[in-house]
Amino acid sequence: SSLLSGRRYESTAAANDASPPPSAEKYEYQAEVSRLMDLIVNSLYSNKEVFLRELISNASDALDKLRFLSVTEPQLLKDAAADLDIRIQTDKDNGIISITDTGIGMTRQELVDCLGTIAQSGTAKFLKAVKESKESGSDSNLIGQFGVGFYSAFLVAERVVVSTKSPKSDKQYVWEGEANSSSYSIREETDPDKLIPRGTRLTLYLKNDDKGFAHPERIQKLVTNYSQFVSFPIYTWQEKG
Ligand code: ADP
Ligand code: MG
Repeated sequence: SSLLSGRRYESTAAANDASPPPSAEKYEYQAEVSRLMDLIVNSLYSNKEVFLRELISNASDALDKLRFLSVTEPQLLKDAAADLDIRIQTDKDNGIISITDTGIGMTRQELVDCLGTIAQSGTAKFLKAVKESKESGSDSNLIGQFGVGFYSAFLVAERVVVSTKSPKSDKQYVWEGEANSSSYSIREETDPDKLIPRGTRLTLYLKNDDKGFAHPERIQKLVTNYSQFVSFPIYTWQEKG
């Protein structure tokens, strides 16, 4: 794992245990991501619900990628049989939303490359526009204008956990980040109850002020709006309290 790119500055390996749990490794975000996170977390942007549109569109992209690859590699679908769909679960009592897709997933290296650096042009344009905007406080409108992708989860979440399994890897990995932190961690998923055959599960632990987003009626309404742009089924249900 020392071959991974990204700046690893701390390892939390357990000491002298007969079978130590795989350690979580900490990474620092690329400077641009830290800046983006600051802007998102501290913005007064009021259309926070765009986070769901961004995350559903990522889930849909991941399913598209898998479907495309399976044309030439049909065993991808057979090896880990699961329908191509998106499942959204809400737990309103605890303020938690999880979004699960059975798409292409991410390897450990892809987690570092995709969720620790700015890869997409939309967010790069956003940062450029922020830099160029002279008016202070105008940042907030720019979020909606350019879209900030995955990081928009931090508009509403104080903690985001991404558990993901790529067909290219035999292991499932967990990415974990917090709203006011310049670092994130990656570890192997070891809880057998949390293993998925393929794809990605995002769990959002909502900020106190944003826990209302975990109300099933609110999510259902938003999903109904967005689902017309998505060619995979989206199922929603709520955790029984
Ligand atoms: P964009 O979707 O424009 O590329 P995002 O910030 O939304 O930018 O996502 C960054 C990258 O993270 C994606 O390009 C993709 O590689 C990866 N990613 C995000 N969500 C998922 C997911 N649910 N499944 C697989 N990969 C994902
Ligand atoms: Mg996206």
